[in-house]
Amino acid sequence: MTIREIQFVPDPILRKVALPVEKITNATKRLLDDMAETMYQAPGIGLAGPQIGELQRLIVMDCSRDDETDELWQMINPVIIQSSEESSILEEGCLSIPGHSSEVSRPNWVELKFTDKNGKQQEIRAEGLLAACIQHEIDHLNGILFIDHISKLKRDMIWRKVLKEVRQT
Ligand SMILES: [Zn+2]
Repeated sequence: MTIREIQFVPDPILRKVALPVEKITNATKRLLDDMAETMYQAPGIGLAGPQIGELQRLIVMDCSRDDETDELWQMINPVIIQSSEESSILEEGCLSIPGHSSEVSRPNWVELKFTDKNGKQQEIRAEGLLAACIQHEIDHLNGILFIDHISKLKRDMIWRKVLKEVRQT
């Protein structure tokens, strides 16, 4: 496994729409493992293909927050099929926007289907942190960032700091 380089804002790849994976090859599996290793090393609880410069509909997540019981999800072509009407607010950050976070409101639970690493179709219902994480990562596949879900005022504030940081490096 290889730790891949994480792309940060304002890299334009983060605003592109990732393409569906047509065929699961060894390269796909290797990529999912690289993504998991990159996420754990960062450390983070989720990572999407575009964040390591791969415009493929692949996401990895581990929201267990417990080293002894890793719960690694590696999803290919995830699609939300249903989501709750009620929303809840959680603090979100992003490996591509390091050092910034904000409260984001999203549906409480989601039902989604995806293909796993072995090519098996799966359907799950997720709630709480995992539900928020899934929505955050699927957003990445559509070029959407968590800052798109917050007030313009808060977004402009984060964006100004990001651009200042970019200028300083
Ligand atoms: Zn993110």
